[in-house]
Amino acid sequence: MNNVSSQLKASEGAGVLSPVNTSKKSSSLHDDGQSYRLHQIQGYIQNIFLVEYKHGCMLLDGACKADLSVVSKYFEQRLKRPLSDLKVVMVTHMHPDHAGCAHLLRKLSGCKVICGYFDEHWYKGIKGALSHLTDIALSHWVAGRLGIKRRLIWYPRKLKPDLMLQNKENIPGFEDWHVISTPGHTAMDISIVHNKTKRMYVADLIVKVKGKLCPPFPVYFPHHYKQSLQKLYDYQGYELMMAHVKNRELKAGDIRTLINKAPDRPQHNSQVILDRAKRLARLHK
Ligand SMILES: [Zn+2]
Repeated sequence: MNNVSSQLKASEGAGVLSPVNTSKKSSSLHDDGQSYRLHQIQGYIQNIFLVEYKHGCMLLDGACKADLSVVSKYFEQRLKRPLSDLKVVMVTHMHPDHAGCAHLLRKLSGCKVICGYFDEHWYKGIKGALSHLTDIALSHWVAGRLGIKRRLIWYPRKLKPDLMLQNKENIPGFEDWHVISTPGHTAMDISIVHNKTKRMYVADLIVKVKGKLCPPFPVYFPHHYKQSLQKLYDYQGYELMMAHVKNRELKAGDIRTLINKAPDRPQHNSQVILDRAKRLARLHK
């Protein structure tokens, strides 16, 4: 993919297909089952990372429902491979831009949907259903801020994975890659690591606000979130792939800054509303 430099416009206007990563790490495919190409695709509101091997492909996250045509066209036009070559879709957590397309892609390609281990559905019960709607509304808001045309992104709030992986387990069919458990943003977040090429996809563990790396919103479990950041010290020097930030090399200084900025109390919609109500109540005493 080194010589691919032009950009293809997705015909439905859902996004631009970025030039693929031209790193030497991913320059050629062999039959050894180990060499791969990493493709970065612009999704609805997030980066989509696609790992291509001769024996099949894996998406590092489940994308938005609106990304279905983008991913399908990428296979057809760029990879010149059938969508049935998509063997695995990982789901790092249940937010709309990470889980929204997983079931649809499985239906179309026959791939396996794989996520981290969870005991109960993230969006369970009435509270979960409301939270699911809020998160979809927030994704629309983000799209609006980015000047992206609003698209249908509703998706099932309960994931039906084919497989759940525990911390440090390898991904079946792509054994060079393994997951690490990095909760905090939600209860079930995972990151995905390739040690041989020193790459790591951390989804929403880190975002950027006003040009600076920051913890995401929400952070439901601040203690776990800080522990997840601590785990990053083992991956200094790795190429960090994030859903909403450009790739960069992971440095100890960045981790320290993030830990310092990490909240001590949960930060999510209902907590923020509750905190504001308490502050108002105090003012009126
Ligand atoms: Zn998220």
